[in-house]
Amino acid sequence: MNLIKFIESFPDENACILKFKQIRDDVGVTCRKCGGKQHYWQQTILQYQCKNCKTRTTLRSGTILQSSNLPYRYWFIAIHLMTSTKKSISALEMQRQLGHKFYEPVWYMMQKIRKSMGARDGQYPINKIVELDEGFFESVDTDKSAEERKGEKKKRGRGSQKQSAVMVMASTVHDFGPPKKKQKKPTKFRYVRMAVMDNQKSTTVDSIIKQNIHYDSVIKTDNYTSFVNIKENVWTHHAEKSDPAEPEKMLPWVHTMISNAKRSLLGVHHMVSKKYIQNYLDEFCYKVNRRYYGEKMFDRLLIACASVNYNCVVNENR
Ligand SMILES: [Zn+2]
Repeated sequence: MNLIKFIESFPDENACILKFKQIRDDVGVTCRKCGGKQHYWQQTILQYQCKNCKTRTTLRSGTILQSSNLPYRYWFIAIHLMTSTKKSISALEMQRQLGHKFYEPVWYMMQKIRKSMGARDGQYPINKIVELDEGFFESVDTDKSAEERKGEKKKRGRGSQKQSAVMVMASTVHDFGPPKKKQKKPTKFRYVRMAVMDNQKSTTVDSIIKQNIHYDSVIKTDNYTSFVNIKENVWTHHAEKSDPAEPEKMLPWVHTMISNAKRSLLGVHHMVSKKYIQNYLDEFCYKVNRRYYGEKMFDRLLIACASVNYNCVVNENR
């Protein structure tokens, strides 16, 4: 959706409320007390009332808008800007565009939108031929003070404090079509998934694989040690020694995704915190996975924001 269309569709707060109500009706409202699905709508106070037990549910509650005081229109504009821009957008830029006085609520709003992107993608395990490798992303440990960070013994490369280890999974299929010009990769890319690893133990690798990859898949990796158990969780595991001079040759899509994500994170957000890097990666993957959606992406994300469980967005540290 371009800017003109967006402004025409949502000229004011009321238009946004109407659209949000329509989406909640489509998704279905569940009473938190009795689980009832039938509700009366009370327009004056923007609340649903359960036909069974009379419990009231506000239009925002149960969605990611719960406990936010920002106007609906801010959320709509944020979702629009986050889906219509090719690259990402920083919270500072969003604050400027909204003309809002405070940075923090805008920053939180964007994190919640990213969380619902991740929760949405998390519902669909990836499959087919899955290239899998680790990527190391620059991040900063904001739980520690600058002095604490300075005092730490510096490690370099794998496991350094300035980096987050991320498991990157790219779903691909064999490309049987006639060879195209400039085509360097033998497979076609489908979907990508990225998961921050708390450590590099094989149990961590196992649980990430179980959570994100369908059993019916073929996993391709290099023969790094924490990848030894993979065959227990999927149909086939194909490990190959990668050529140190050209490591991207063996797992081409994973390496393309890692470098694109790094560029996006560094270019827009400069340095992200270890605590929230998963959200930024989720945003990157969500947009890549829906690259052919076009205008539909706005509506789909709005539905995700209205239907994803608020508690899972706020409490669960995905
Ligand atoms: Zn009820």
